[in-house]
Amino acid sequence: MLRVSEALALVFEHAAPLPVVDRPLEASLGRWLADDVWADADQPPFDKALVDGYAVRAEDLADLPRRLLVVESILAGHPPTRPLAAGEAAEITTGAPLPPNADAVVMHERTDRHGDFVAIRPQEIRSGLNRLPRGRVYREGDRLLAGGVVLTPSRLGLLAAVGSAVVRVVDRPRVAIVPTGDELVDFRETPGPGRIRNSNALMLEALAAGRGVETWTSPILPDEPEALREGLRRALESDVVLAIGGVSAGSKDLVPGTLRDLGVREVFHKVRLKPGKPLWFGVGPDREGRPPALVFGLPGNPLSGLVNFRIFVAPALDVLDGRPARAAGVVPAHSAGRLEHRSDLETYLPARIVGEPHGPAMPTIEPVDWSGSADLMAVVRADGFLVLPDRETVVEPGEIVGFLPLH
Ligand code: AMP
Ligand code: MG
Repeated sequence: MLRVSEALALVFEHAAPLPVVDRPLEASLGRWLADDVWADADQPPFDKALVDGYAVRAEDLADLPRRLLVVESILAGHPPTRPLAAGEAAEITTGAPLPPNADAVVMHERTDRHGDFVAIRPQEIRSGLNRLPRGRVYREGDRLLAGGVVLTPSRLGLLAAVGSAVVRVVDRPRVAIVPTGDELVDFRETPGPGRIRNSNALMLEALAAGRGVETWTSPILPDEPEALREGLRRALESDVVLAIGGVSAGSKDLVPGTLRDLGVREVFHKVRLKPGKPLWFGVGPDREGRPPALVFGLPGNPLSGLVNFRIFVAPALDVLDGRPARAAGVVPAHSAGRLEHRSDLETYLPARIVGEPHGPAMPTIEPVDWSGSADLMAVVRADGFLVLPDRETVVEPGEIVGFLPLH
């Protein structure tokens, strides 16, 4: 059986960035920018007031107090109508353009208005006070972003400022979620005898949606070859397929065989991992213009699916998104107690943070009570997973272990 790191390396070997497409800026949060972005104009496009007050010529104000004639009132969005002459000022609001010859803005709070005149109280005035000069943030033609970065909210704001209404980005992965099993009913229904609600599809949808991908969820498929074939065939139009259930060794575990019939090539089946050992992974048939689908057959137990998603699916989605191939973010933590690990499976125990004596970057954690991979309550009580290696180990209190935070 493959180790987790070996299985992940195989997933990465088959994952490739999706094609670059044009997308509206407003739908590009989290996308991977493909092209450089250049400034279309100076920013700010004019000398701009940074406070509400009076635009002045600093040279007029060497001796204070001094009265200046107020010649106009300039509001943001309205260009000035005339230059300032000696002894003149213009009332101005934040964001408005300074008139020609003005080189400073005196804050409203440091002036007194008397009819057509304003008295400038004693204070330090220099050229450039409360003025953002044209082009100070960037100049027309400057390269503002290099291709190969994620579009964060601040970068979206910058692109909006330069008018990039459509951007070249790596396409958004489409993820199909396919719940399978005769026992499943829709979560809105009351299960009859022997049946349970389909809870995993919604959980996986949320996990996938949290990474900014597009999801499509199939109706529940029964453990029956013809229905499975039709449902999975449709799912294979997506970039990633998450089939849930039916990948273990039971007589009704028909998913791997059905996928093979549909031309999905098996890459591995079963990993030295707990929970999540029965994971099946394969690669779909060749497609026009897009890399073949990555197909994950996740075991039906909720914790298995969750752990498999975090360890294999999320890193694969990152690669499709254009990001570097990187394993899930396991960080160091102190174990609160003694743990005897008698297994050769890499083990993810739902665990909670019990203290942060060395700061939040190095929490002290302990496993929560759990009854195995069907116990979703354990994860609901947990902050993450305590990670134990795929060999027998004894962890002493205070020793450093791996911690995979839930969020
Ligand atoms: P399987 O992987 O099909 O052998 O299923 C393993 C366990 O997970 C069984 O107890 C199933 O009833 C349960 N299970 C399978 N699919 C789901 C699902 N979508 N939601 C909740 N439990 C499920
Ligand atoms: Mg099943």
